[in-house]
Amino acid sequence: MGHCVKPAGKWPDGVIPYKNDTAKPVKDGLVQAIEKIMRRWEAQIGGNRVSFVPWREGEHNLYILLQAGEGMASADIGRPPQGKTFTVLKVDGGLLGKMPHELGHIMGLAHEQDRITTPYTKNAVYDPNIGPRLYAVENSVTAFKVEAKKKEWAALYVTSGDYDLFSLMHYPAMPKQLTFDCKDEVLIQYCKDKGWPGLTPECLNSPSNDDATNDTWRASAGDIATLRALYAREESQS
Ligand SMILES: [Zn+2]
Repeated sequence: MGHCVKPAGKWPDGVIPYKNDTAKPVKDGLVQAIEKIMRRWEAQIGGNRVSFVPWREGEHNLYILLQAGEGMASADIGRPPQGKTFTVLKVDGGLLGKMPHELGHIMGLAHEQDRITTPYTKNAVYDPNIGPRLYAVENSVTAFKVEAKKKEWAALYVTSGDYDLFSLMHYPAMPKQLTFDCKDEVLIQYCKDKGWPGLTPECLNSPSNDDATNDTWRASAGDIATLRALYAREESQS
């Protein structure tokens, strides 16, 4: 199992209500497409640990507000913070492939690449328990940001297990942001040891819009193990 989670972000009883915004509503067909992705997450996690349900007045206090993204897909991590009743999930039909990732955030998962606790440079010390080396193109990540990230990280998140390059929560290589040195010998060996395919930026787990529509996306084993642990049932149930 891998991943970083925000334990305080866990939704009570794994019930995650959602409600369409009245000011910037997500249109009907798109709500259904999101519901399909919700069903697939529930099935992959299994055991009724997590369920996304339509919000009902008087029954649900906390919820996700579905909002037309207008070119953006985004979500906060975990349940709404203290003092707030909802968290916004921005949905855009052109970015449907991003929704499995965004719903991962909603359930409490952070970005997998953010668990790198060493500076984001080519000279970072390699640690198999932390992950393969990533480096920042054009030094876009400053030392200040790395320090801030470490502090934020230590206060909110818990990490465990191996670094999971194929997590839905791992960013693909992005121009001018964190990326992989696909010729990095240590990284190549790391992937070989794990039985992973040859490393290219394209082989990371980044569902397309068609994957989202056709139900062909898949969370990694680490994604599923982490969410099963976070939403474990108190009493034994099958
Ligand atoms: Zn994200």
